[in-house]
Amino acid sequence: MSYNEEYKAATENPEGYWAGQVERIKWFKKPESILEKTDHGTYKWYADGELNTSYLALDWQLEQGRGEQVALYYDSPVTDTKKAITFNELHSQVTVFAGALRNMGVEKGDRVVIYMPMIPEAAVAMLACARLGAPHSVVFGGFAATELAVRIDDATPKVILTASCGVEFEKQIAYKPLVDKAIDMAEHKPGNVVVCQRPMLTADMTEGRDLDWYACQQGVEPVTEPVPVRGDDPLYVLYTSGTTGAPKGIVRDNGGHAVALSYAVQNIYGMQPGDVWWGASDIGWVVGHSLIVYGPLMSGCSAIFFEGKPIRCPDAGVFWRIIEEYKVNSMFCAPTAFRAIRKEDPEGGLSKNYDLSSLKWVFVAGEKLDSSTYGWLSELLEVPVVDHWWQTETGWPMSSPMMGWPDPSEARLGSTNKAVPGYDIRVVDGEGTEVGAGETGNIVVTLPMPPGVAWDIWNQPQRYVDSYLTAFEGYYHTGDGGYVDEDGYVVITGRTDDVINVSGHRLSTGEMEEVVSSHAAVAECAVIGANDTMKGQIPVGLIVLKAGVEIDEAQLEKEVVAMVREQVGALACFRRAVVVQRLPKTRSGKILRAVLRKIAANEEYKMPPTIDDEAILPEITDMMKGSGLI
Ligand code: AMP
Repeated sequence: MSYNEEYKAATENPEGYWAGQVERIKWFKKPESILEKTDHGTYKWYADGELNTSYLALDWQLEQGRGEQVALYYDSPVTDTKKAITFNELHSQVTVFAGALRNMGVEKGDRVVIYMPMIPEAAVAMLACARLGAPHSVVFGGFAATELAVRIDDATPKVILTASCGVEFEKQIAYKPLVDKAIDMAEHKPGNVVVCQRPMLTADMTEGRDLDWYACQQGVEPVTEPVPVRGDDPLYVLYTSGTTGAPKGIVRDNGGHAVALSYAVQNIYGMQPGDVWWGASDIGWVVGHSLIVYGPLMSGCSAIFFEGKPIRCPDAGVFWRIIEEYKVNSMFCAPTAFRAIRKEDPEGGLSKNYDLSSLKWVFVAGEKLDSSTYGWLSELLEVPVVDHWWQTETGWPMSSPMMGWPDPSEARLGSTNKAVPGYDIRVVDGEGTEVGAGETGNIVVTLPMPPGVAWDIWNQPQRYVDSYLTAFEGYYHTGDGGYVDEDGYVVITGRTDDVINVSGHRLSTGEMEEVVSSHAAVAECAVIGANDTMKGQIPVGLIVLKAGVEIDEAQLEKEVVAMVREQVGALACFRRAVVVQRLPKTRSGKILRAVLRKIAANEEYKMPPTIDDEAILPEITDMMKGSGLI
């Protein structure tokens, strides 16, 4: 298999190329339609095929003789628990839990919200929903009640699945009160809330609505026959921060997703059935969907299901312990985790206590991999450290070396490697004209995008068009900036919009601005990302006070920090806000965020030609320096 030939074939004849990949998975009915244009001008794959994703992850694996192979290794240093769950066991847990959901009235097409920590029950929940053809929407357990409420109102779930708590180091985070509060706030009310009571904290139950996780499974009829769904039926909805307004419900279909993940796990990640794979992330993010649950299981791999942090579990050697203990062959991780380990153990001495010889290579993505971390990690592990690039919307990598093929492209520092076959990546200027090799611009992808890439936003198809297809006619707009060098290597320089990346979590500064500006003393504000060596970026707020307001600035900072924590969540890491006299604006009144970002990042900036008052920028720079923000 040669990269150049495959890439050429996929680019010149996408329909033919992906028709050739249909046999990767087992269909109940093979698709006759390979590629179709949707009503709103996007493209979908394998629309009329029939399949079931839970069947592919479980029953199909049993049919291939993997019943006694471990499907999930649950390892939770924060609760001192370990479990090895075989495909047979997982299959039986999923069929029973699907039966319980069916008893609650969940049928094909109904939505289920999952707000859970990293416990195996969460994977069971996802696969049980998939089995019924009921799209799940996993909401990351760190999100505040307001954020959960917005998602409940958009997804309108019949049932919400949760646990009594999440565990972070020695601290428990009670989930159930957050769910209760979110349901109170939301207009939509789910029929049932199913609560997995964890031994360390028991949640209060609301009579008539709440059900105990295990009690509700007693005596139910297992769903042994998975419900057939169409290739274009939704498997899940996953919310991602939009730059404005409510979060976007990215819709993943069943057919394209199954084929694409099978292709990715084998060809990009180089994993074979029986291999041990670790997606070191959380089910609340796309990586958790593609690389903790669906990808590895559908490909017959054993997956690590880790509930913990890279440090203090009990030390910064926990990643190395996991690799040794389960003989991990390859893993995925955000660079921020390795930066945290390095901070605690700069020489990497803890890694020397473990046998890491099972490891073939390590993948990183989610934010920029700085060269210092890259160098440290490659030296420590002595295996290829592979930077690759993707987004929630794509669900699988757009650029990466193909580690499963004999000729994976060499790494090139600062680059996320070459385009994956199926992704025709281009760079255009602000007018949509392609720029030359090495020139920076907007990174876009030629349509059609390959299978697996989302082609819809839940409830709002037009928003998909507006968000991704309108900026540059004929292209999918990734929202990332960067360039492609003369050899086809893709370099990502960052987001071109206002979403910031805190420890690999993509958060909308717009959402935080909304919260800050709701404070009684605030006239207007801008939240921008400042560079942070540990987290990549952290948000900082610039606040303009309402005229005549007298308030202690430190007190104001405390109050808005608490508000963001409450309404967006602690994961936003919003800890600093300073008062400024005014914000830089264009003559038409738009805040000049791009230039503020540069100031926050300590970069040179050019005076924007549209600026209203040139004196503001030096003023703001001094202010930010003076208060230690930069
Ligand atoms: P998310 O949808 O939360 O997975 O975030 C996707 C965004 O993270 C991308 O659009 C990029 O801005 C950023 N990203 C992902 N992978 C990389 C990478 N390898 N290097 C730089 N940025 C990345």
